[in-house]
This record gives sequence, structure tokens and C-alpha cells, in this order.
Amino acid sequence: MDDFAGKAVMVMGGSRGIGAAIVRHFASAGANVIFTYSGSPDAAAEVANETGATAVKADSAKRDEVVAAVADAGPLDMLVVNAGVAISGDVLELNPDDIDRLIDINVRAPYHASVEAGRTMRDNGRIIIIGSVNGDRVPWPGATAYALSKSAVQGIGRGLARDFGHRGITVNVVQPGPVDTDMNPETGPFAKMMHSAMAIKRHAQVDEVAQLVMFLCSPAGAMITGTTQTIDGGVGI
Ligand code: NDP
Repeated sequence: MDDFAGKAVMVMGGSRGIGAAIVRHFASAGANVIFTYSGSPDAAAEVANETGATAVKADSAKRDEVVAAVADAGPLDMLVVNAGVAISGDVLELNPDDIDRLIDINVRAPYHASVEAGRTMRDNGRIIIIGSVNGDRVPWPGATAYALSKSAVQGIGRGLARDFGHRGITVNVVQPGPVDTDMNPETGPFAKMMHSAMAIKRHAQVDEVAQLVMFLCSPAGAMITGTTQTIDGGVGI
């Protein structure tokens, strides 16, 4: 399959989990893929070796590193901002510095990366931000900061869809529910509670999320913009 042959794709946070699956799908579809990583150099090297993609170290908590990585990679056809962290627990006990770092990675980085990509992105390009169903629904306690960050990216997506629409660039937020990754393993202690809120009572696989991203980035996605695309097995419906 070479549907994306020659396309310049950047995935922010491509060393593990959903991001690594997105790198694999784009690479096997013929794209030239660059991805960022921060804390997992060995995993990043493995993904790069396997796919031929280029791994670049850039901490999403640092605006300068995010902007430089995107500027150096441009002009892009597609940007996927996947890097994210989750913090949960008693809202009265969580460390405020950790919460601010989460906001840097989950909100500020998607904003600055997307705006920077938009400076040079080719016409009919694609920007995808990986949000979460928790941007819409919070079926359990302890997720306030994560939920606020994933609601915030909905606003980034809608705003940039307006800002870049005249160039045919689409901007969308993909909102997974539970996905089996290091962040949220299906064997973890909260899996049963999560499944109890779902119509389809299992975690998604990373490839299921990557396939939705690929569809939105394909020519078939040309008129889908400013949307939130939820892929969550029916959390809290
Ligand atoms: P993982 O923890 O498995 O992987 C996270 C990825 O993001 C890694 O590649 C990691 O790279 C990268 N990353 C994290 N922090 C930084 C940073 N500071 N700088 C650069 N890269 C960073 O998470 P998932 O694959 O599960 O999650 C991916 C996205 O999907 C996130 O935005 C998450 O919020 C969202 N999501 C996940 C769900 C789930 O159930 N798994 C549900 C809903 C949304 P490295 O290790 O190299 O730093």
C-alpha cells in the first residue's frame, strides 16, 4: 500500500503506544515519517529501525523543543500530535507542578506544534490531535486535569479548522476511550471499571485508533474538519 507515497508526516510522540502504531501505518503506506520522543530512546530506536522513520528527541513539555522539531521537519503534509500524559488521583492531593506539566504536554504542545506546522503546511494538509473521550465525558472521579486538557484540544481543533480551512487543511481531534497501551493496560486495575461504562466492553487496540487517523488523513477526509471523532466503544453513552 502506498497511498501516502512521498507525503511528509510528523508524529509527535511516536515511540510507544498509539503514536508508534500511527508511525507504522504511515510508514507502510509510503510516507516519509518523522516522529518525536522524549523518555524512551530505546523504544524510539526500535520503531525507527523497523519502519525507516526518523526519530527526533523533543520534550513536549518544552515549547522551544516542540516548535524547533516541527519547524525543522517542515513543510509537512500531515501532523499528528499524539504525545500525552495522564495523571489521576485525589484532586486535593495531586502535585500542582505535575498538573502544570500535564497542561504543557497535553495542551500547550498541541497548540504550538499545530500553529508552527500551519506556517508551512502544504495545501490540503491534515492536522490531527489525539484527545480523549474524557474531553466530553468523565465517568469516574480523579481525572479532572486530564479531562480539562482533552476538552481544551477540542477548542484548538475547531479554531484552527477555521484558521487553515481556506488552504484545504483539515484539523480534527481523535478521541479514544480505553486503549491497551503502557498508559492504560487492559490488564490494569481500572480496566473492569472502565469496561463497565462501555457498550463494547474491551480496550481498543492501537491499530484501531491508527486506522481512524489514516482515514481522516486520506483524500476521503477532505471535508471532515473541526470535528471530534470518538473511538471509545461507547463510554458513558
Ligand atoms: P503511552 O504512554 O503508551 O505513550 C505515550 C507516547 O507519548 C510515547 O511515545 C511518549 O514518548 C510520548 N510522550 C509522552 N510525554 C512526552 C513528552 N514530554 N515529550 C515527547 N513525547 C512524549 O500513551 P498512549 O499511547 O496510550 O497515549 C497516546 C495519546 O492517546 C495520549 O495523548 C493519550 O492521552 C491519548 N489517549 C490514550 C488513551 C488510552 O487509554 N491509552 C485513551 C484516550 C486517549 P516517550 O516515552 O519517548 O517520552
